[in-house]
Amino acid sequence: MNKLEHIGIAVKDLDASEKLFSLLLNTTPYKRETVESEGVVTSFFLVGNVKIELLSATREDSAIAKFIEKRGEGIHHLAFDVDNADERMEQLRASGFEWINATPKDGADNKRIAFLHPKSTNGVLTEICQDKDA
Ligand code: ZN
Repeated sequence: MNKLEHIGIAVKDLDASEKLFSLLLNTTPYKRETVESEGVVTSFFLVGNVKIELLSATREDSAIAKFIEKRGEGIHHLAFDVDNADERMEQLRASGFEWINATPKDGADNKRIAFLHPKSTNGVLTEICQDKDA
């Protein structure tokens, strides 16, 4: 992994949480983006060289809605930047890690992403992301 790229935080009310995190981080979000296939709307802050990704559900069957129902608001995932998502997936699969996604898919913020299953990562939902332009 190259670096921690972002931390995903599940929130109920994106408008309210944008205000809260703007005050907390002393900066404003640089973009909002809906990922319709995932049923989420995201909002991104940049703090140093790490991003904070707020995630809220756009429909009841989205993974974020289910997460909040089970565990409440809070840290949802850690995302690590990689040069080649397909290669990294294969390497980690060969090491015995389980994936939620069979192959990388399109995510927010111009990324190709894949999630490791938290049961193979000590309960930490972990994403790898590759910049599409990289
Ligand atoms: Zn993410």
